[in-house]
Amino acid sequence: MRVYSTQKDQLADILARKYSETADVSAVVTKIIERVRTDGDQALYQLIEEIDHVTLDSLAVSQAEMDAALKTVSPELLAVMEQAKENILSFHQKQVRQGFVSTEESGVVMGQRILPLARVGVYVPGGTAAYPSTVLMDVLPAKIAGVPKIVMMTPTDDAGNVPAAILAAASIAGVDEIYKVGGAHGVAALAYGTETIPKVDKIVGPGNIYVATAKKMVYGEVDIDMIAGPSDVLIVADQSANPRWIAADLLAQAEHDKLAQAILVTTEEALIEKVQAEVDQQLAELPRQEIAAAAIDTNGKIILVKDLAEAIAIANQVAPEHLELSVAEPFALLGKVENAGSVFLGHHTPEVLGDYFAGPNHTLPTEGTARFYSPLSVDDFIKKSSYLYYTEEAMKAVGPAVELFAETEDLMGHARSMKVRRGENE
Ligand code: NAD
Repeated sequence: MRVYSTQKDQLADILARKYSETADVSAVVTKIIERVRTDGDQALYQLIEEIDHVTLDSLAVSQAEMDAALKTVSPELLAVMEQAKENILSFHQKQVRQGFVSTEESGVVMGQRILPLARVGVYVPGGTAAYPSTVLMDVLPAKIAGVPKIVMMTPTDDAGNVPAAILAAASIAGVDEIYKVGGAHGVAALAYGTETIPKVDKIVGPGNIYVATAKKMVYGEVDIDMIAGPSDVLIVADQSANPRWIAADLLAQAEHDKLAQAILVTTEEALIEKVQAEVDQQLAELPRQEIAAAAIDTNGKIILVKDLAEAIAIANQVAPEHLELSVAEPFALLGKVENAGSVFLGHHTPEVLGDYFAGPNHTLPTEGTARFYSPLSVDDFIKKSSYLYYTEEAMKAVGPAVELFAETEDLMGHARSMKVRRGENE
């Protein structure tokens, strides 16, 4: 890992992040979306053959496939997923918003209703790994919001099957329909609908660059949650931190993706060498060593700072997806954190707890977007609608004020709408 010091290096150089070239992805995705819009199911079957090299008989996952998956998955894993579901439901239940109504003396009534989105599409990445945790994290907040139809899209393996753990998680979470379509074509099918796949109101869930680019392109036709880029962690550590644990957490992030970012910001010079030695040693033992090593090499860094205030200032500038406060007094720093997707406090709270099990959502803003995006939540699956009621007297009382506004804007039709009710000559 490259080592920097805020005493010697420019912050802009320290924080520069490397990304892959993506220039031709937009052109590829534009064509895929157009084909799905024009030719619907037929385009999907063809694209799955061309891109995924799979021939499907049916786009939908059948009940028989669901039943078989539930039998394949171990009872231990099913129990763990059920427990994770309880934890996720319990956390997200607290996010539920109430509508409100305000009744005024004048007889005016106004309020706001909270309504669930009618149809939501959840993209679950396939490809290089299976993520049943993502199914739970993305579907359960929608269930709490009351979304009546949840459609899942996910690519298959080479034999045309969706991994059993994904189907089991979908069954536990209560997904209504599952289709074997991944990549940009899966996103396009959700955005525009096909003969088989229903058009949805919002698409959520992470995915690779094809998925992310397609989500960006269909935004407006449907809503999307956020653009999830490569994952990242920033760990703030003081003299109380354990180098072995810190290295493990940096690598847990690095094994996601060659472009994942793992940063250690520390006040403790003596920690640096120890963490580096641990990273090298633990890296050699990781099955996903090649991916993790590439990530550590590309975007892994250790930054020496003069104090914890400077460490938090850097964290706020990076706006990490995951922020670990591996310090003696983590709660003392929490209030100073302004930009972070999710914060993990203390030495015994590795980010991995949040990835699977604890309750807060693991679909989080990446690439510094924690400056303005929030973790996926029940709010993502609701919309608000306001309403208004006036009595005749209340309407007449404010008529002249409203008409003056309308006339100022040269909208005489607006003014008339009031005047005809007030019995005024125009
Ligand atoms: P994916 O499902 O996102 O993408 C696989 C699909 O991409 C393929 O089925 C194919 O249809 C399409 N594709 C691949 N190459 C293509 C090409 N050349 N042209 C057109 N389409 C092509 O699965 P993945 O690739 O494994 O990526 C998963 C991503 O999701 C990773 O970046 C991972 O880090 C991320 N992820 C993030 C979270 C999170 O919460 N942030 C959770 C899980 C996964």
